[in-house]
Amino acid sequence: MKVIVIIPAAGLGTRMGPMPSALDAKAKPHPSKQFTELAGTPILIHTLRKFAAVDAVSGIWIALRENEIEGFGERLADEVIGNGLKKRVTLVVGGEHRQQSVEYALNAVSAAADDVVLVHDAVRPLVTAEIIHDVIEAAKKYGAAIAAMPAVDTVKQVERTAEGAIVKATIPRVGVVLAQTPQGFHYSVIKKAFDEAAADGFLGTDEASLAERSGHEVAVVMGSPRNIKITTPGDMELAEFYLSRR
Ligand code: C5P
Repeated sequence: MKVIVIIPAAGLGTRMGPMPSALDAKAKPHPSKQFTELAGTPILIHTLRKFAAVDAVSGIWIALRENEIEGFGERLADEVIGNGLKKRVTLVVGGEHRQQSVEYALNAVSAAADDVVLVHDAVRPLVTAEIIHDVIEAAKKYGAAIAAMPAVDTVKQVERTAEGAIVKATIPRVGVVLAQTPQGFHYSVIKKAFDEAAADGFLGTDEASLAERSGHEVAVVMGSPRNIKITTPGDMELAEFYLSRR
């Protein structure tokens, strides 16, 4: 049984800052959020190192925007030479949505039915070896598993309005967890879930939602409040703080 990692890293990261205006031809496009530097190193490289350091991992597939593949390939070569990165890393072209990026990477993977496929957001560089290990073990045991955090805030269901939102219901938080990544699956489970989602035109925001609708139970292991998904500039400050405290 082998463990394969897929890192979707083909997002634009528009919530990190405004996209340069089409009228301002001289504006330098800001890097996609996965390439923003954290303590002098691109976020994606921090994330890659976390998985490359796990013995059980046999290969890593990264989905990138087409125009970023060449530059990242060069950065990867530096990583192999400078930091002795030993895992095999394959770069694939991502898609318009996160799910497509994962799908394209999945199509490039060759695996046996009970091999484990882990999917992890490029922009969660503070994941720990312990969380990765726990998700691998739960995925082996249950066929599908995610890292998640219990909800500490009260959760409201809302209806969006032009001015904001109106509360429609309160969801008892004891029955709620907030999904993180990594999310791990037997290859047969994730492949079936993706094939069914493609056939039905279903678009989810994580892999577990595809496994759920495919009828597979998904186990939950404890994530971490530090395993943040860097989405806005404020998250960068938090990530820098956590990194400095290591
Ligand atoms: O944008 P979002 O928060 O969904 O991004 C989560 C992860 O999915 C990021 O690592 C991002 O790079 C990736 N992604 C992708 N392909 C897309 C959109 C997002 O690989 N088309």
